[in-house]
Amino acid sequence: MDAMHSLRGGELHVDEVPLSAIAERFGTPTYVYSRAMLESRFRAFGAAFASAAQPPLVCYAVKANPNLAILNLFARLGSGFDIVSGGELARVIAAGGDPGRTVFSGVGKSEAEMRMALEAGILCFNIESIPELERLARVARGCGRVAPVSIRVNPDVDPRTHPYISTGLEANKFGVSHRDVLALYRAARALDSVRITGIDCHIGSQITEIGPYADALARVLDMVDGLRAEGIELEHIDLGGGLGIRYDDETPPSIDEYAKALLSAYGTRPQRLVFEPGRWLVGGAGLLLTRVEYLKPGATRNFAIVDAAMNDLMRPSLYEAWHPVHEVCPRQSTAHRYDVVGPVCESGDWLARDRELAIEPGDLLAIGAAGAYGMSMSSNYNTRPRAAEVVIDGSAMHEVRAREDIADLYAHESLLP
Ligand SMILES: *Cc1c(COP(=O)(O)O)cnc(C)c1O
Repeated sequence: MDAMHSLRGGELHVDEVPLSAIAERFGTPTYVYSRAMLESRFRAFGAAFASAAQPPLVCYAVKANPNLAILNLFARLGSGFDIVSGGELARVIAAGGDPGRTVFSGVGKSEAEMRMALEAGILCFNIESIPELERLARVARGCGRVAPVSIRVNPDVDPRTHPYISTGLEANKFGVSHRDVLALYRAARALDSVRITGIDCHIGSQITEIGPYADALARVLDMVDGLRAEGIELEHIDLGGGLGIRYDDETPPSIDEYAKALLSAYGTRPQRLVFEPGRWLVGGAGLLLTRVEYLKPGATRNFAIVDAAMNDLMRPSLYEAWHPVHEVCPRQSTAHRYDVVGPVCESGDWLARDRELAIEPGDLLAIGAAGAYGMSMSSNYNTRPRAAEVVIDGSAMHEVRAREDIADLYAHESLLP
């Protein structure tokens, strides 16, 4: 289940489709996703929790990859959604997702976003501070509704991942300190326009060990017991997302190990479990297809300049993330070491460093494990149109987002009078 592509007849394929056929039809750079792999990951997540007293609600974290086709695919499989903006809520609705299975996370919800989510009837707001709770209560009263709330606790555990994607430490901006949780629940209970439904935490992303999850769960369960002693009963416990995938030589726990560890600590509690996986569902199901424009030998490094860049895939520049790079039609010739870089005018514009590749200008490369936080973090820096997105379904190719037109990039701009 780890690789979405295979080498057949000397060429990489996604399912039945050779990557060169995708490049020919849609150009490059293009994000390519496998429908089969998206579906099998979603099903595997649910199957791992089959022994739970009640099936958990899987709320796909939209920000990992918000393409409507992907949201719709998961909605058809019964997914809920974890959103972090009004824009993401609009996407969920446009894709046929159920707002009643949608949780709203994030530290900075605006009044307009709160109103929009109340009117859509979302499952709950994941509340991250007292001022946010007060604002939500006021907005809900204003539109004559009762807002379902869960408090996002910060369990203060170290997820041992990159500092930029670590969220469950006291020093991070996320969640409510475990010291203040009880006070916040008491405040929520006193508000007429708010209804307490759950508790949640999300400790970080690309987590490759069970330990931090077990620690976070233990702390959350302590809080649930403390709340119960106060007469505050919860309907759900949301353990967030963050389970890591393999990019290079990481050895994240399997989904079965993850589920087993959590379920054994969870026992037979009555609350429904909720999860918010993003990367784990989509990361391995996407690649970025790009073409080599130039080979530029240098005194200390050789550069392979490709037509994808940091604006298309920001993770290497942002986190020094490692992505596999595959030749689409491997050559027999001698390989050389290259830094794979884009055309953007920044020295930080690189996609991979020091890779053995046997390539010529014009060759195609596939940058693997790019289904999560690839397209969703892309930008138009250097006035580069965003890449096309294509879903492969068996032997069929479906363009699910057309490459942007250059004129669209400045369509909302105007000249001074
Ligand atoms: C980003 C995010 C997720 C998903 O994280 P992954 O590492 O992609 O699984 C889940 N919940 C919240 C609150 C998030 O911010």
